[in-house]
Amino acid sequence: VAKPDPILVATGVRRSFGGLTAVDVAHLEVQRGTITALIGPNGAGKSTLFNLLTGFDRVDAGRWTFEGRKLNGLGGHRVARNGMVRTFQLTKALTRLTVMENMLLAAPGQTGERILGAFLRPVWRGQEEANRERAEQLLERFKLLAKKDEMAGSLSGGQRKLLEMARALMVDPSMIMLDEPMAGVNPALVQSLLGHITALRDEGKTVLFVEHDMDVIMGISDWIVVLAEGKVIAEGRPSDIRANQQVIDAYLGA
Ligand code: ADP
Ligand code: MG
Repeated sequence: VAKPDPILVATGVRRSFGGLTAVDVAHLEVQRGTITALIGPNGAGKSTLFNLLTGFDRVDAGRWTFEGRKLNGLGGHRVARNGMVRTFQLTKALTRLTVMENMLLAAPGQTGERILGAFLRPVWRGQEEANRERAEQLLERFKLLAKKDEMAGSLSGGQRKLLEMARALMVDPSMIMLDEPMAGVNPALVQSLLGHITALRDEGKTVLFVEHDMDVIMGISDWIVVLAEGKVIAEGRPSDIRANQQVIDAYLGA
């Protein structure tokens, strides 16, 4: 990372559950156009931090800006509309909808035809056409196009991860946050997911991802942030993190 150009800047983000402080991040920056890994033992607060930043959970304290815009306090849909999207550790594909329906639900402008007057319907149809086209392109990219009319519930675990990524891209975000995209995925599909992640970075998007496999993390990350007991305990380039005793201790102590 030559010159700092943060796309996301968060300060004083805290969240407790009862007596447990799950997240207590004094400062976090994600640099534009990087693949940044968020790592740490189970229970470190990684998913909670994702939930907070993307408006799926409420902070006790803290503020953050994305592309210079204040996002704290906004709900998930509005955060996504600002260009920051995330996937879930446990995939959220709607199993009783088709793959295509899942994609279209994530499209921008999901106002629904009902509430539009007859006058606006042609505009909406034009939007729907564009959404469908974009969905097909993304499904093609993630090798899911042949499955577009199948129920999402019939996909393998790995294919659901791909569908989640494809779906997140429907709003053409500038940053995508992936919570354990590789977990429970077979090795061949891991390679394919890694290729997708680097391709997104190479297209100029910013990627923040949670992962446990150290080889994967070291192999594709530009920057690594280490979380333990809700706090950032270290960050740096992969080579720095690999040599950091505190990080090794945090993992061995997990
Ligand atoms: P990670 O993703 O790093 O494994 P999590 O963010 O899922 O960690 O969890 C951090 C801590 O917060 C854990 O101790 C977890 O049990 C707790 N936690 C997370 N969500 C909730 C919740 N909704 N209610 C109570 N405790 C929670
Ligand atoms: Mg988690």
